Amino acid sequence: MRLESFVRERWMSPGQELAEVRSAVTGDVVAEVASGGFDMGNVLAYARQVGGPNLRRLTFHQRAELLKRLAIHLSERKEQLYKLSYQTGTTRSDNFIDVDGGIGTLFVYASKGRRELPNTTFLLDGAVEPLSKGGSFVGQHVMAPLAGVAVHINAFNFPCWGMLEKLAPAILAGVPVVTKPATITSYVAHALVRMIAESRILPEGALQCIIGSTGDLFDHLTCQDVVSFTGSADTAQKLQRHPVIARESVRFIAERDSLNAAILAPDAGPGTPEFELFIKEVAKEMTVKAGQKCTAIRRAIAPNNHMPAVIEALRERLSKITVGNPELDNVRMGPVVGLGQRRDVLAQVAKLRSEADIVVGDPDNFTVEGADRERGAFIPPLLLHCPDPIRATNVHSVEAFGPVCTVMGYDGLDQGIALANRGDGSLVASVYTYDPAVASDLVFGVGAFHGRLVLIDRDCAKEQTGHGSPMPHMVHGGPGRAGGGEELGGMRGVHHYMQRTALQGSPAMLSRVTQSWIKGAPMVQEGRHPFRYHFEDLAIGQTFISKERTITLEDIEHFAAFTGDTFYAHMSEEATKDHPFFPGRVAHGYLLLSFAAGLFVDPDLGPVLANYGLDSLRFIKPLQPGETIKVRLTAKSKSPRNEQYGEVRWDVEITTDKGETVATYDLLTMNAVRA
Ligand code: NDP
Repeated sequence: MRLESFVRERWMSPGQELAEVRSAVTGDVVAEVASGGFDMGNVLAYARQVGGPNLRRLTFHQRAELLKRLAIHLSERKEQLYKLSYQTGTTRSDNFIDVDGGIGTLFVYASKGRRELPNTTFLLDGAVEPLSKGGSFVGQHVMAPLAGVAVHINAFNFPCWGMLEKLAPAILAGVPVVTKPATITSYVAHALVRMIAESRILPEGALQCIIGSTGDLFDHLTCQDVVSFTGSADTAQKLQRHPVIARESVRFIAERDSLNAAILAPDAGPGTPEFELFIKEVAKEMTVKAGQKCTAIRRAIAPNNHMPAVIEALRERLSKITVGNPELDNVRMGPVVGLGQRRDVLAQVAKLRSEADIVVGDPDNFTVEGADRERGAFIPPLLLHCPDPIRATNVHSVEAFGPVCTVMGYDGLDQGIALANRGDGSLVASVYTYDPAVASDLVFGVGAFHGRLVLIDRDCAKEQTGHGSPMPHMVHGGPGRAGGGEELGGMRGVHHYMQRTALQGSPAMLSRVTQSWIKGAPMVQEGRHPFRYHFEDLAIGQTFISKERTITLEDIEHFAAFTGDTFYAHMSEEATKDHPFFPGRVAHGYLLLSFAAGLFVDPDLGPVLANYGLDSLRFIKPLQPGETIKVRLTAKSKSPRNEQYGEVRWDVEITTDKGETVATYDLLTMNAVRA
């Protein structure tokens, strides 16, 4: 099988220099890859000129819908991906992480995109900032998609998840993708891109895939492009030093080597559930995907007095791991990705052995089920013990990217924290304790050196998603050695592909530009109540000003008796004496909200279908009996939802009859469309 690149909507493989890709299990050739032969400037130009405009003319909700359709399309074909993946050395449960994990990430971004983003083509970021005394000059941050290309360079270990977890946020942001899978597992990534291309779900130019070398692609990058890289620190540094990256200030997200830690706290000794969870997680992280996970536990840090029990428990667990052909049901761990990778892992283990002893596993003596030990890239799980981790350096800096972990002891929490931080920046650490004070010391002791922390204890044992699983909702990335990048994290991952711009101007101008009414901008006041307008007919700025209503003591007492809210500030003059906020008995905030609704609601059957929430509610001035209020309700922004209705955000301000602001909030309604 000669793998072709997907460029300008065509499959092609013009390069002459052929490289063979071999099965991790049998060593047989499974694919051929040709390098080069493309004009990379043309590849990027096509993404910029065709893919970008095609995506940017869609709203966030429309792009989210594409992701959902893609996720469904791939779900129906995932068996094909599992089948191919066995040749990379992965078991069926490893494939769930890669294939299902990737598809799951598409689903999460599809759903979050619809729920958390407006149905527009740009985002408002934060609140309006008043920049002048008179209110005629204000500021508002906006975010719009970059006009460039997302260049995604992936590591070999996750040909599906790696591609999809980078693709989903970029497509949702509106930026076309050029993806480059690692050559050694590119036949799986190639099959995935074929499925995506055949589906024709993504618009033209939204996805291209380079198999083999990227040639001179970096020479053609501009300030509108983003490079997101996962792989080794060496390659990351080489690419980051490319002169165009510096000259054009190209955004570069790196996710690279990481010496992640699992930390057993002193309270979690043998016999506690947390001890068991620690052992289980360390063994799992060593063997899932044969330890070839950027998030795998490389350093298991435990109190010195628990060390013999830790080693013994891990020995027992690891002895149950059957190594062999990953297609066999009884095999728990397959080979690493290839013979080169095995050589590399064993070379790194040799470096670790200058400071640590192997206590479980023997690389020269182990059995392999259903495959040839020499032709396949097999390594048994190898546990090392470092007796002096304070003086050691390799155990904190050498990443053996295979089923390898080093246990190391500490005395006192401060020493444990110092050891964890010797990784000089990691993607993740997991903490095993049932003592919140210890957890807090650990979290704030190691937090600055880690992108993610998982606190694992008996309460979340059953449902916790694991030390090694990046969740699309949470950020994935870490400082220092881990690359200094950040991916995923829900909408945070989308923002990497957008430019934030600080807009400054008059409320009238900014309201028109952002399609969101700002206080100080003109209001539209017509005879009809704004609740009488269908979604498409309601103008931004349409306003209703209510009649006045005076609050009486009877109102407050009635509300207190009716709701049961007899908080002292509403009930007793005496109790509010010398109070820092209240000048005497005051009205309930919720009473004011209820009166406001009574003042602005237009009660007859009409296009407003439902009130579904309040945002940003602030009570500003307490009101005493005898004071009078009125309400302003202004249509602030609109976001279409479906063919039946859309969301309207209303700016609501309750004031006194003298114009003092009493409370402000955004009211959300669903309004019917006309047809
Ligand atoms: P590499 O850094 O060698 O490769 C990562 C990606 O970069 C691959 O797609 C590779 O393509 C590409 N690449 C390499 N050189 C260039 C270049 N000059 N220009 C553009 N792209 C380039 O990592 P590997 O995947 O081979 O893994 C090697 C080691 O990296 C592992 O043993 C492990 O130690 C570490 N690693 C760490 C990970 C982490 O996240 N912590 C994840 C994966 C690996 P190609 O395959 O065609 O060379």
